[in-house]
Amino acid sequence: MDELNLEERFSYWFKEFDRCIKCYGCRDICPMCFCKTCTLEESDLINTGDVPPENPMFHLTRAVHMAGRCIDCGLCNEACPVGIPLRTLYKKVADIIDQEFDYRTGFTEDAKSPLNILGGAL
Ligand code: SF4
Ligand code: SF4
Repeated sequence: MDELNLEERFSYWFKEFDRCIKCYGCRDICPMCFCKTCTLEESDLINTGDVPPENPMFHLTRAVHMAGRCIDCGLCNEACPVGIPLRTLYKKVADIIDQEFDYRTGFTEDAKSPLNILGGAL
């Protein structure tokens, strides 16, 4: 992934996201997805009824919500019926959070995610 330029990366992910059947398996299995209401089901943000879901909005919305939260368990990757490499995506997001905020989920017992503000949806 690191060898691709930005345009190639975008094209790679765009093609991957286009295979999504919007089963919500990645979200449902995730131990760190615990909001009572899910942004991915907000019709103001994501068009409902579209399969594949709005590309790349659906997946980037989830990726942003997993920033500073994902524990890299890999369950979303295993659950995805069409084999979208979600773990890779969330690992890249975690790397950005580490670089920008010096924060890795679960590495320090008392530390809170720099994006803790997203927890306001809880
Ligand atoms: S790898 Fe991250 S996003 Fe995927 S299920 Fe585990 S905690 Fe959730
Ligand atoms: S598990 Fe795969 S197919 Fe299902 S919503 Fe997630 S990315 Fe899409």
